Amino acid sequence: RWDRVRRRLRAELGEDVFSSWFARVEIGAVVEGVAHLTVPTRFLKSWLEAHYAERLRAHCMAELDAPNGVALSVRQVARESSEPCQDLSAQRARPAQARPATPMSDVAPASAATPASDRDPMDACGTLLDRRMTFQSFVVGKSNALAFAAAERISAAPAGSTPYNPLYLHAGVGLGKTHLIQAIAQDARQHGKRVAYFTADRFMYGFVAALKSQTALAFKEKLRGIDLLIVDDVQFIQGRSIQQEFGHTINALIDAGKQIVVAADRLPTDLEALDERIRSRLAGGLVVEIGELDEALRVKILTTRLDGLKAAHPSFHVNPDVIAYVAKLVATNGRDLDGAANRILAHATLTGASVTMETAEAAIRDLVRTREPRRVKIEDIQKLVATRYNVSRADILSERRTAAVVKPRQIAMYLAKALTPRSLPEIGRRFGGRDHTTVLHAVRKIEKAIVEDRLLHDEVDLLKRMLQE
Ligand code: ADP
Ligand code: MG
Repeated sequence: RWDRVRRRLRAELGEDVFSSWFARVEIGAVVEGVAHLTVPTRFLKSWLEAHYAERLRAHCMAELDAPNGVALSVRQVARESSEPCQDLSAQRARPAQARPATPMSDVAPASAATPASDRDPMDACGTLLDRRMTFQSFVVGKSNALAFAAAERISAAPAGSTPYNPLYLHAGVGLGKTHLIQAIAQDARQHGKRVAYFTADRFMYGFVAALKSQTALAFKEKLRGIDLLIVDDVQFIQGRSIQQEFGHTINALIDAGKQIVVAADRLPTDLEALDERIRSRLAGGLVVEIGELDEALRVKILTTRLDGLKAAHPSFHVNPDVIAYVAKLVATNGRDLDGAANRILAHATLTGASVTMETAEAAIRDLVRTREPRRVKIEDIQKLVATRYNVSRADILSERRTAAVVKPRQIAMYLAKALTPRSLPEIGRRFGGRDHTTVLHAVRKIEKAIVEDRLLHDEVDLLKRMLQE
């Protein structure tokens, strides 16, 4: 069954992306509905959590008996230095080229006899909808009341009427964007509307697959025949032709009086990868932010989650005091609250003990971060960057000027400037005795590159967070 998850991932992401990030993910056991996956390095764990958490969860839920999601951990192995590292240029070449021509056949073996070109590229749209993400299960509080009201209004509006168009929801990770827009999708479908729901990845994939099987026109027609288009994580839409297509689609739908809903992790003006005109079109309706989950909201969400788990475990009981305490410890993020609920349940069912403040605290210890940022050492930066780009630290300090070494070296210098109080000349000295102008050049270069290149931006950002962890 794990093979089926792998096949789905490979089909969706293409061989390159799959082998870079998923080839070395292994399945441990499914315990209490949580699929335990292991990876060889911390880096891979963070990367998968940052970029593929949703997808992994959706597939494991569909193929394994894992309704409570996935937990990733680093497996114990003799030190392994090689991250499956594509160089940066290979990453930038994503996503179009990486995908196979008839990528759906693995996903839907039942219809494998149908040639790809006859298949509806939108058939798969609904597969990622999570049945638990409904309006009923969405807990409303101060920070999301406006977003919730707008979402309900849009969903309930008669087809053809567009109260706010587009509705643009933005918020940080784990604050309920996906939950809310999936709730719109499910509710609107129940009201008989024709809904297309895509993640940005899915949209790009659908379009590229349609192009390759020469059904792009049909794909577009299909899109234009719907009442409601929902796209999650639009900050990931990239690539010139796909962007154009996305822009055309949005314009055509809005002009035809169809409703659009999108979610992103940032304001429309900050979608650097998107064309200016698309940004302003996206900003032209209602833009709503979902704020941090305050303590009251966290208590309610956690209570609902734990109640939900009770269905399968009738004897499971958590005292409200303990819930309040856990909600205080687990800051801000809905995903961590889910994780906390699952861990507490696992702890309680495995030990058979009742849940006290102490056992709860022990169960969620890894979710509670100490806020104090760590002092970053230049040496640590060099080591991490070297591991990430599959070069040695000595390479970074050396005179070598091959591209495979220059780029990581520049990134490391940039990080040294950004994360430590060291001066440029001092950084130069610590990078094999280089001149301060060399360091300045590197810093400027990366500063510019991360504005232009979204993937690089995310990558550098992740490296920063890992160093400060
Ligand atoms: P985002 O898409 O913003 O990163 P998600 O929608 O995936 O966040 O939310 C992360 C988790 O937190 C999900 O399990 C979601 O159901 C839960 N969650 C977030 N906000 C709420 C809320 N207001 N009510 C209930 N659950 C919530
Ligand atoms: Mg999301």
